[in-house]
Amino acid sequence: MNLAEDQNQVNWITTIAMVIFHIGAIAALFNFAWGPFWVAVVLWWVSGSLGIGMGYHRLLTHRGYKTPRWVEYFLTLCGTLALEGGPIFWVGVHRIHHQLTDRPGDPHSPRDGKWWSHMGWVLMGKGLHRDTRELAAYVPDLRKDRFYVLLSQWHWVPEVVLAVALLAFGGWKYVLWGVFLRTTVGLHATWLVNSATHLWGSQRFATGDDSRNNFLIALLTFGEGWHNNHHAHPSSARHGLKWWEIDLNWYGIQLLRRLGLAKQIKLPRLDSRIKLAVSPTPSARMPVATATGPISDIEGRTGAHL
Ligand SMILES: [Zn+2]
Ligand SMILES: [Zn+2]
Repeated sequence: MNLAEDQNQVNWITTIAMVIFHIGAIAALFNFAWGPFWVAVVLWWVSGSLGIGMGYHRLLTHRGYKTPRWVEYFLTLCGTLALEGGPIFWVGVHRIHHQLTDRPGDPHSPRDGKWWSHMGWVLMGKGLHRDTRELAAYVPDLRKDRFYVLLSQWHWVPEVVLAVALLAFGGWKYVLWGVFLRTTVGLHATWLVNSATHLWGSQRFATGDDSRNNFLIALLTFGEGWHNNHHAHPSSARHGLKWWEIDLNWYGIQLLRRLGLAKQIKLPRLDSRIKLAVSPTPSARMPVATATGPISDIEGRTGAHL
């Protein structure tokens, strides 16, 4: 299915769910209480950092580090609470994004429109949701694991269980904040990585795509906003490369390492394939890298391990 056909097909189930979640998020603002607020903050970190950043993205998609199987499953379960689809869908789509970044076939490039890259591809990108064969080739590792296959089919169940538990123990305000508002904010934060960090920010590395480093998006996504760093070094578990590049997902991975739960952690190594050069513009004094080979070659060669 080509992109033009894809853009014209509304995915109604997702669209209706998104409308309900946005209405719930607005309703939460009129039902403020400190208890539900803090529950939402903690769940935002659980789903956004433990789940999406450390789990779906840096562990499952890029295999930037290794954990015992139960930790991997736990982080993946946290990821389903973000309601961004099951691990097979998420990982498959993201691996395609890295292979075809900002070129034809990229599932969510702003070159196909800002709205498309942010939310349009989710509401109207029916092809990728339906045609799992297209994704299958990209996720052979996950498809071998029955837990991931089942969790991908039933990815919305943990969120429903959480909602029922919050309703039973706290009441409607906890559901509005802990599920509706928290999920909606988390979705937009992730979508901003696809849209904003391919539009606005600085480019430290000459990756040949539109990826940028964006401080604000990094704050909203626990460190995923250092997106140009990430496209230059996809398998690195660390995205914030300077001390001031706040990267909570990296701090979480370091904590796992101290607990003995993360090993073989991949880091960028600026070897001969990525050479540092002085930026020609005086305003951007950060060094820029010049890739001497295709960026895809760099993956797997950034193998400095902790
Ligand atoms: Zn990207
Ligand atoms: Zn990635």
